Amino acid sequence: MTVYTAIISFLLIYIIGWFIYARIAIKSGPVNCLAFHDIGDEFDFSISRVNTKSFDRLLRYLAQTGRRGTSISECDQPNTVALTFDDGLENFYHLAFPILKRYGFRATVFLVSDFIGKTTAWDYHERNHLTWQQIAELAAAGIEFGSHSASHMDLRDLDDEELSYELCGSKEFLEQKLGQPVKYVSFPFGRFNKRVVQFSKKAGFISGFGLARTDNDFVLKRACVYLYDTPYSIEKKLRGSWIESCKDYINNSLAGGTIILRKLVPEKS
Ligand SMILES: [Zn+2]
Repeated sequence: MTVYTAIISFLLIYIIGWFIYARIAIKSGPVNCLAFHDIGDEFDFSISRVNTKSFDRLLRYLAQTGRRGTSISECDQPNTVALTFDDGLENFYHLAFPILKRYGFRATVFLVSDFIGKTTAWDYHERNHLTWQQIAELAAAGIEFGSHSASHMDLRDLDDEELSYELCGSKEFLEQKLGQPVKYVSFPFGRFNKRVVQFSKKAGFISGFGLARTDNDFVLKRACVYLYDTPYSIEKKLRGSWIESCKDYINNSLAGGTIILRKLVPEKS
């Protein structure tokens, strides 16, 4: 057996194993909330980037099928889909927002409170974050803001003081700057456990958001939108296809690679 055959066999077994595990472990079912990260057209190796053409095509599809893209708070009517954006990146302002406006849609953006106006430090793609000026303009146009923690750590690893800062500290800081309540939290890398949920409740958040699955009533379901998604696959996700849920689960588990890489490789200055 050549090395290549061994590697391909290993990958196949790994992916099939994940599918079987995900089929058993995850709860599929209809969702009315989509999770985006990065909207942009510049090539990189991230699958969480959605290019502007695909984003526009997806919003057009939602509008054509009688759905309205809203913030989480507004997503309590029939045929509404909450559009959420993790990380609070600047490309939301330059690229996503003009397209949302074209369709009369709104959204919720989860901000990393210590990184507003700065460059990402937890990933190996350098990205700029929204500035306060951009955030104020977006808020005036009806965009809702939530917390994506203070510094985008894996919250499960933190001691009580650190966890309190990441959740309570971030919420209070954002509320003070925005002058409005910050009701929702999205957990970095989609990672959470019972303790993280307990601290989130204590901080005053109404609901939390992971990325792929949820086995906790506090954490609401979202379907992720990736580079390769089409209106057809998104329709399946919204309807609760288990294959799409499994794919999301596997992709989200790869976010663990970023966490491990961050621990192994020293941070860039
Ligand atoms: Zn994130």
